[in-house]
Amino acid sequence: MTARQIAIDGPAGAGKSTVAKLVAAHLNYLYIDTGAMYRAVALIALRKGIALSDAPALTLLAQELCIELQNDGAQYRVFCDREDISFAIRQAEVGNAASPISALPGVREALVRKQQLLGEQGCVVMDGRDIGTKVLPQAECKVFLTASPEERARRRTLELALKGQTIDEEQVRRDMEERDARDTTRAVSPLIQACDALLLNSDGLTIEQVVERILQMAGN
Ligand code: C5P
Repeated sequence: MTARQIAIDGPAGAGKSTVAKLVAAHLNYLYIDTGAMYRAVALIALRKGIALSDAPALTLLAQELCIELQNDGAQYRVFCDREDISFAIRQAEVGNAASPISALPGVREALVRKQQLLGEQGCVVMDGRDIGTKVLPQAECKVFLTASPEERARRRTLELALKGQTIDEEQVRRDMEERDARDTTRAVSPLIQACDALLLNSDGLTIEQVVERILQMAGN
């Protein structure tokens, strides 16, 4: 039987979103990028000048923002209060701000609720840090995707360069290590492999090979 819910977790730069989009397209499932939701809250907080430590204001923001993930098969766009923020949320500064914000219990509670509602819409591929453990613990197929820190930094630097941001690979690696450390040690929903998730290290594998493995696991 093919899994209806596929949860893909793992650290930054492991290739989760690239792989998740391809798996979703192959199965004709909805793709839900939960990192984009934390990034949306971070973007608006930065614009409004809300301190990244102001838990009550950030929780309210996460509860009130209308974040929409549009998915027409070929294009994945993120809207916030009707504005297309797909490009803006990919800035390195926004990713770095999303990390401390995502450690706040109130912010997580608000976004996890939205993610669970999206997950109820049918067959989904959802990626993030706590999908298999917290958001969709009942998912039939869970993958913990990882890669070496060098490989992840290389991929993230390339991804940022393709979006027009030139950042030193060493700097990207340091930022990623900081985010991963915060994600894995936070009190609420830390980044951790679910006990029933399959560990997949993508070092030395092509994107197609990773997608193929996940499709097999999902029952295809
Ligand atoms: O996956 P992405 O890099 O876009 O996520 C941005 C940040 O949001 C991560 O560094 C992590 O701190 C946070 N995040 C999270 N839980 C998720 C998805 C993302 O804490 N489910």
